[in-house]
Amino acid sequence: MNKKIYQMSKINKLDIRKIIIFLFIIAIIIVLIMIAQNSIKVIDDYKIYQEYQAQLATMKKEEEEKQAAIEREKERIRQEKIPKLTQVGRDNMNNIYHSDTKRVFLTFDDGPSTVTPTILDILKQENIKATFFVLGSRVTAMPETVKRIYEEGHYIANHGNSHVYSAIYSSPQAVLDEFNQCNEAVKTAIGVPEYNSHLFRFPGGFPGGPYVDVKNQAKELLSANDILYVDWNALSGDAETTQPTVEYEMQRIQATVGNKNSAVILLHDAQAKKATADALPQIISWLKENGYEFKNFYEIIK
Ligand SMILES: [Zn+2]
Repeated sequence: MNKKIYQMSKINKLDIRKIIIFLFIIAIIIVLIMIAQNSIKVIDDYKIYQEYQAQLATMKKEEEEKQAAIEREKERIRQEKIPKLTQVGRDNMNNIYHSDTKRVFLTFDDGPSTVTPTILDILKQENIKATFFVLGSRVTAMPETVKRIYEEGHYIANHGNSHVYSAIYSSPQAVLDEFNQCNEAVKTAIGVPEYNSHLFRFPGGFPGGPYVDVKNQAKELLSANDILYVDWNALSGDAETTQPTVEYEMQRIQATVGNKNSAVILLHDAQAKKATADALPQIISWLKENGYEFKNFYEIIK
């Protein structure tokens, strides 16, 4: 009997050990399954992370390409506003007073001045682009006004620096020096280091006068430096009298424009010539009524 009990107890002990081992194995299997599941989850999470990273990289690349395209467009617009003189421009200038259709160039000399904002407001209202032959000394005094002229799409050309005939016409080199001084002032005012208008207007005009020899030599020197010059074939007469009136200027415009097909009109942008700004709306209406299309020198110097 005792032996039997002992045997049974031995069997029980064996069974318990087996059960423990079995349970232990089950536990290990469960742990392994959990580890495996967790690993799959980690791998899945990593894949999602990688996809997210790839998406981010694509978005970043797209954003960079978009920014680069915006920069390229900005640069294209910036370059368009920097005059470039080619043979086409030289040919256009040789034919400045000839055109198959009626065209007019409004040109303002001697600015900027306190009147410039009024002129710019009128031009903006009329959607007309003009040409300003600025003086370097005035540009340095009113750089913000020059910047506005430039940003509103008008052509900034060069009228030298001093407007003092005895200084600018002291030698051909002095003319070139004044062109360069004015050009430097313009570059600084508009913040465009490559700017060069390639276009000069001799103070007092090119033809005649006591400095005709210097002017002739200066013309050659300027041309050798890719600088052309232009006078005018019509005017408002605002420099012909100390106190021009609107009526006087209108009369002079009508008489000098006449029935020309290509008119380059001399006007002045100066405090003492406020009548020109006052006359400007009437001048523009009269030119429009007579079928003129308004141009500036961006359409010539190219
Ligand atoms: Zn002048």
